[in-house]
Amino acid sequence: MYTTQDEQRLYNQAKALLNNDAATVEATTQQLREVLNYADWKYYVQSEPVLADAEYDTLFKKLQHLEEQYPEHITGDSPTQRVAKGLSEKFPAVSHLVPMLSLDNTYNADDLRDWDRRCKELAGTDDIEYCAEPKYDGASISLIYENGQLVRGATRGDGVMGEEVTTNIRQIRSVPLSAAFTKDNINQIEIRGEVVINKDVFAAYNTQRISEGLSPLANPRNAASGTLRILDPAEVGKRKLSAILYHISYYTQTGDSVVPEALQTHYGSLNWLYQLGFPTPVHEMKRFRSIDEVIDFCAAFEARRDDLPYEVDGLVIKVNNFLLQDKMGMTTHHPRWAVAYKFKARQATSKLLRVEFQVGRTGSVTPVAKIEPVPIGGVTVSSISLFNEDVVREKDLHIGDTVLVERAGDVIPYIVKPLAELRDGSEEKIVFPTHCPVCNEELEKPEEEAVWRCINISCPAQVVERIIHFASKDAMDIRNMGDANVRKFYELGLLKNIPGIYTINWDEIAKLGGFGEKSITNLKTAIDNSKQQPLNRVIYGLGIRHVGETMAKTLANAVEHIRDLYNYTEEQLLALEDVGPKVAASVMHFFHTPENRHMIDLLEQAGVNLVNQKRNTSQASGELEGKTFLFTGTLNRFKRSEAEAMVEAKGGTLLSSVSSKLNYLVVGEDAGSKLEKAKKLGTVAILSEDEFLTLING
Ligand code: AMP
Ligand code: ZN
Repeated sequence: MYTTQDEQRLYNQAKALLNNDAATVEATTQQLREVLNYADWKYYVQSEPVLADAEYDTLFKKLQHLEEQYPEHITGDSPTQRVAKGLSEKFPAVSHLVPMLSLDNTYNADDLRDWDRRCKELAGTDDIEYCAEPKYDGASISLIYENGQLVRGATRGDGVMGEEVTTNIRQIRSVPLSAAFTKDNINQIEIRGEVVINKDVFAAYNTQRISEGLSPLANPRNAASGTLRILDPAEVGKRKLSAILYHISYYTQTGDSVVPEALQTHYGSLNWLYQLGFPTPVHEMKRFRSIDEVIDFCAAFEARRDDLPYEVDGLVIKVNNFLLQDKMGMTTHHPRWAVAYKFKARQATSKLLRVEFQVGRTGSVTPVAKIEPVPIGGVTVSSISLFNEDVVREKDLHIGDTVLVERAGDVIPYIVKPLAELRDGSEEKIVFPTHCPVCNEELEKPEEEAVWRCINISCPAQVVERIIHFASKDAMDIRNMGDANVRKFYELGLLKNIPGIYTINWDEIAKLGGFGEKSITNLKTAIDNSKQQPLNRVIYGLGIRHVGETMAKTLANAVEHIRDLYNYTEEQLLALEDVGPKVAASVMHFFHTPENRHMIDLLEQAGVNLVNQKRNTSQASGELEGKTFLFTGTLNRFKRSEAEAMVEAKGGTLLSSVSSKLNYLVVGEDAGSKLEKAKKLGTVAILSEDEFLTLING
């Protein structure tokens, strides 16, 4: 792997390559490959980026450019070769060097003690060291390296034959394309592991799908295995898969070379792989001398399961010593030297009582299953979105069905399937409404879309949902406004549309009861403050179809005033980053609708910021260009978001943690560990709120 010296050398090499090439093209491409592979490892395996994104991109493009000119210098482990060209035809079946078996399961301490007894019998000794590590809930893969190069990646398939998905696996940035196996004279090695999708990546992906009218994927496991089989490798790359390797199943060495000492135990082998640059569970795995210790570890780990960035469905306990493993052998189904300890299932069965149809802010009508309340993984589930008609049809759901419900980690609950075998004939078909359940307008289903829509833009359900969206945390962030208040004000006729937020008659609200003076003042202040929100939040808050937070930023950055968007042509829109025909059409439609323009006029009259402040001030005042800031503690003179906006308006950059890259730490009251860390570093300027204001105001 990389020693401290290597790391220093590669870091300096990266910095040097940003400005100068090496003596020859060959040396330059070779050095670029080295530093980019190193940067990938730091980023994807160690989670400690060493290069700024822009620096990485510059070096990457430089390598790409050189390789275009001098294709003879392209090597298989060049990071540019991860970038997929063309489509995979289909995935050929390949046989595994060693069958990929399943695992035997245990569910409690007694099961584990039984397994411990069996291990001792089979091993012929009471002295067994165990190793425990997470059971990753993804898709298993096998990687084959020959002479240090990744030559094949395959899915598990039926355990004997799998699908060859090498091109897709090359998209996973934590999987090394080459590794120094030849150092130990290993000419062929097969490594097993799991491909997973982190929970946050998964959640973002589903949000995206839902906003596009697609049904979300059930869980990270399905998402991972589905992604491995996508025919377009570029799409695979976008899905941000992670890999974790936990087993060496086979290797051959040339001649009569000695086996590296590390390869005598499971624990040693995973450390060895880690040293070679592989993502392995070195930080999670633990060794134990007795099954009781293992049992304690299992309980403690299960309690932390929701804190992990990826899904785990249990732990895997393995006999650490390879000689003992060989002695114990395997059945046709599973190895005898390993066992899974399964965490409590997050599935339950319940009865589907009825289906309600909810109208969202874009008019989409979503079927929502109401089930008999059932506790799953610590929360009671009674309401589950069914997303759209196709989902209901595919699953063949009926009212009265007993349904299997799953709730994985932070993932929203969903219905896996009905238990058709439990039907008694009294179940009823789910009937979809032909008219809006709220305003009674006839519903429409645009072609290529899965959802029915109410297209009446004054449909009360939509108006309310739009106001709620505008006030929400990620949009205008009007605290204390909340769904319930919006609904209440709307029903009472005190709030009719988005601009109406700024002209609420507070005397009427005060008369309502239930609102103290204090809560009214708070709400008023929150509404007033929202007028200063940056343009991207306003654009996001308007709820233009297909315009999420990122797209709203792109649009806001492109203009000086929101009205500039009235004149944008489709062509101009398409030229913006990530804007496709769907977004362009939707943005055009929105800004050409007279009601929407009127709404924007009203917002302007109310004093809501509609200009891109960054753009209007950056030329005049990029004084903080290149300077980095972080805020900590409770700020009294301004809101954190305001202060951050000031920094950005002057060209400064915000960081999320204290590091050597940080220039200024602004401290409010009760500042904690960040302040400590900054003091320790000694390179960070520590500012009070007043000092910060002085700095900002020049
Ligand atoms: P199952 O599919 O429930 O029989 O469990 C067996 C599967 O668990 C294996 O095929 C692996 O894909 C997966 N697995 C996840 N984490 C590990 C691990 N740390 N060690 C071994 N297998 C694992
Ligand atoms: Zn309606």
